[in-house]
Amino acid sequence: MTMEIIDSHTHWGPSVSMGTEVTTEGLLGQAEQSGVSRIVIFPFPSMALKDEGINGRLLDEANRIKKFIPYYYIPETMKPIPGGNGFYGGKWHWMRGIQDCSSNYQSLEDPKLKEFIEASEKIGLPIVFEEELAFTEAFVKKTKDLRVIIPHLGALGGNPIDFLDIFKARENVYFDTALASSDIVMRFFEKIGHQRILFGSDVPFGAMKRELEKILSLRIGDDKKEWILSKNLKGLIGLR
Ligand SMILES: [Zn+2]
Repeated sequence: MTMEIIDSHTHWGPSVSMGTEVTTEGLLGQAEQSGVSRIVIFPFPSMALKDEGINGRLLDEANRIKKFIPYYYIPETMKPIPGGNGFYGGKWHWMRGIQDCSSNYQSLEDPKLKEFIEASEKIGLPIVFEEELAFTEAFVKKTKDLRVIIPHLGALGGNPIDFLDIFKARENVYFDTALASSDIVMRFFEKIGHQRILFGSDVPFGAMKRELEKILSLRIGDDKKEWILSKNLKGLIGLR
C-alpha cells in the first residue's frame, strides 16, 4: 500500500548559532531518499531572532518549491501568524526564554499574550509549541481550541510521560515524533491513539530517513500509521 508521507518538522535556511545552513537541495534530497512528498519548514530560532525577514524569505522559497509547507516563526513581539499570505502554521519557541533550556514565565503575564491567543484562535492554524511543561500547561489552559503541536513528544521541555499525563485528555494538543524513541512513541499511541501524533524529523538535528524508518517499523496497523505520517497534519492545516 502506498501512503502519502509528510514531514511535519524541519528547519530551513541559515542557523546563526550553528554557523550552518539547511539548503533547499539538501532537504529535497533527503525527502526523495525517504519517499517524503511534502515538508513543513520553519526558520532556525537563532536566525529568526536576529532577522525577522527570514519568515518572508522562507515563504518566498515555499512559493517556489511546491513541496514546502511554510510555518511562521513567532517573534518576541508575539505577532500572530499573518493570515492569508501562505503560512500553514506557526512555531513558538522558548518565548523570550533561554533556547531549548528554560522558559521565561513573564511571557505568560504579558497582556500581548491574550491578543496573540485570540488572534491565533481566529486564524485557526496550528502552532508548534516548545516550552517547559509548566509553561506549556499554563499556555494551553488559556486557550479554548487553539491547536498546539508539542515537538519531540515534549522531550526538550521535560519528561514526555509527564506531558502525556497532563495533555492526554486535551483534544487540541498534538505531538510530533522527532527524535523520540520508538518505545515512547508507542506509549503515546497506546494512550491517545493515532490521531494526535505527527511524524517529524527535525532535520538537521534528525535524519529524515532514519526518523521515518522509526515510524514505519512501529507495530501499528498501516491504516493508523497513515494518520501519523500525513493525514493528521493535512487535517490540521487544511491540506488536500
Ligand atoms: Zn526543531
